[in-house]
Parts: sequence; C-alpha cells; structure tokens
Amino acid sequence: MSTCLSITNLSKVYPTGDGVKGFSLDIKNGEMVTLLGPSGCGKSTILRSVGGFIEPNEGLILIDGKEVNHLPPEKRPSAMVFQSYNLWPHMTVFNNLAFSLKLKKVKKAEIVEKVKWALNLVQLQGYEKKYPTELSGGQQQRIALARALLLEPRVLLLDEPFSALDAKLRHELREELREIQAKQQLTMLFVTHDQEEALSISDRIVVMNKGEIEQIDTPQNIYNYPASMFVAQFIGKMNFLKGYAQGEKINIGSLAYPNLNHYNGNVTVAVRPEDVVIANEIENGIEALTEKVMMLGHYAEISLKTDFGKLKMFVDRSDISQFKMQQKIRITFATIQAFPEDSNVHKDGYSKILNLTKEEIKVYEKA
Ligand code: ADP
Ligand code: MG
Repeated sequence: MSTCLSITNLSKVYPTGDGVKGFSLDIKNGEMVTLLGPSGCGKSTILRSVGGFIEPNEGLILIDGKEVNHLPPEKRPSAMVFQSYNLWPHMTVFNNLAFSLKLKKVKKAEIVEKVKWALNLVQLQGYEKKYPTELSGGQQQRIALARALLLEPRVLLLDEPFSALDAKLRHELREELREIQAKQQLTMLFVTHDQEEALSISDRIVVMNKGEIEQIDTPQNIYNYPASMFVAQFIGKMNFLKGYAQGEKINIGSLAYPNLNHYNGNVTVAVRPEDVVIANEIENGIEALTEKVMMLGHYAEISLKTDFGKLKMFVDRSDISQFKMQQKIRITFATIQAFPEDSNVHKDGYSKILNLTKEEIKVYEKA
C-alpha cells in the first residue's frame, strides 16, 4: 500500500519550551492511525500542523507525495473535525453541509445528492431542514463529520471528536466512524487521550509523551509488548513488581524468566492482571495473600499482597467463590515484561530487556 500522509521531523516548540520535537510518521492509504497520549503531550499540535492551522518550526509534510507545508488549510487535501462541532447555528443542516460545495461552484442538483449521501453515511437521513440547536451533541458531531467527508479529503484529521459526548454515545460513534472509515477506505489521523478508544478503533497507535513518540505499533502489540515503562503504565491495567536480573535469569522470588538481554541489576517487572494465574501443584510459584475482591461484571479483580509488591489478578466470574479473604495462595505469571528499575518514565535511559509470550516461557521452562 502506498503512503498517503508523510510527516518527517516535525517540530513545533512554543515560547514556553513545550511542543513537539522531531516527530516522524507515515500513514498508508486507507489506514487509521491514532495519536494517543496524556493531555499536553502535543497531539493537537501535530494535527493542526498537518491541517495547516499552525506553522511548524521545522519538518516536512507530504500528502500523496506532494509538499503541503506552504498551503493554507482550505487548499490542503485534508479536512478536520474538532471536539466542538463548529456548526453554523443560523443555518440548516443542509446549508451547513452545502456551504463548501457552493463555494466550489458545484451544481445545485449535485449538492442535493451529495448532502444526501453524506447524511446517509452518518445515519441522519432526512435531517436537511433541521437547525443545529434542534440536534443532540452526538447528532451535531455526526453533521460535523458529514461536512468533513463532503470535502472528500485525502486525509481526515479528527481531534478528540467524541470527548464531549457521554460514554455510551462515544462508543456508538467510534464504532460508526470505524465503519465509515472502512467502507470509504478513508485515511485518518485520529487524536485521543483515551487509551480504550485508541485500542478499539486504530490500525496503528502512536503513543506520545511530552512531545515525543514512545511507541508506534498495532493496538495488539502496544498492549502485549509495551516498549517503555511509560507505555506499560499508560495502556491498560498493569501490575509492577520488584525483580532481579542476573546472568541467564530474571527472578521474582523463586520464579525465573529468561534474561534475554543479559541485563544485570534490579528490574521492575510488569504483569497484566489477566496474566496472573494460580500456580498448580507442580509449578513454581510465589506466595500471595488475598486482600480484596471487586466484582467488575463478568470477572472480578482480586487484590493480592506479595513480598515483591501488591498486585491485582483477574478471575472469571465462575471461579470467584473459590477465593476467601486473607487466604494464602500461590501464583505465577503467564507472561511478563521487565524494565530496568529506576528507568526514567521517559524513554531515554532505558531499553526493554524482556518480552516473552506464554509459548516462549513454556519452552524455556522445559529447557
Ligand atoms: P495535546 O493536544 O496533546 O493536549 P497540545 O498539542 O495542545 O497537546 O499542546 C502541547 C503542549 O504545548 C502543551 O504543553 C501546551 O500547553 C503547549 N501549547 C499548545 N499550544 C500552545 C500555544 N499556542 N502557546 C503556548 N503553548 C502551547
Ligand atoms: Mg489536544
């Protein structure tokens, strides 16, 4: 697949010193890429630079191989959807949608057809005569999306488009957006600070921290193989335990995992709650004390105390009755990640020293 949007070495530093430094990213045709990171990490700065709303200090932005740096927003083959819908309140839905087409001198009959097409896509057929104030927040955002789609952008840029909506609507709209994206083969750069949203709709995620990239990968790999402590902390629920790496092994008490990078010293071991499992009789395990059970629907979260730190374990609904409080159990970990202890939360100064799948651990344990 060919590249649609190419960002190379983009920097935008504000007088305060905040901003984005040396950001590079290529997005393929029809791909949906999400910029994910805490508020203030520079997501909007990148999106606005691509859309032409701010001028970067440095960096090259290509769309379909053509430089767009010098073009104003309306001349770029991109369209942007903001968190606030920015519809014109005094205009009907039809006129809000027709506006850009009229500017382009598209014929009336064609405008009517196109508006109908766009309303259909966002599931608001027949809403032409309504005014924005007559619509709910979710409907207004759908209209804003339809308006952007009518520009037939090569790249659709969306800056936290659903964050003003309630949780249920947010889920609905993200699903719809993903369907539209797939159906229309749209290339999208989507911004959110919500990791669940990013994991659920993206082909790839760019995890950002303080103006720099921590990791670019598929949602699955970001979840399974966080490349830094920051990503491990930011994405999903994660336990952190004390371990020690030496020679061939990383040890958490009597549990041993291969030390592939031959790192020596204290490590922070990251384990997902779903990878904490009860050790069977023949398996090695560490002792844990059950402290608390929290029902979370089809599963429960059990809080455990060990000599290596506190942790949480997910247990299936049907197995909860087996657990008593203040009970000693033996646990092991299906898969772990280890980072040098004291590694800065930012990516400088540490490297990933271990990531293993369950299968790899099994092979290792047999050896
Ligand atoms: P995000 O969208 O990830 O929340 P932004 O791109 O909006 O982050 O901002 C990145 C950093 O740059 C923040 O620290 C923010 O305060 C700062 N910033 C953004 N816009 C400006 C501006 N116009 N002037 C000064 N600082 C800014
Ligand atoms: Mg922002």
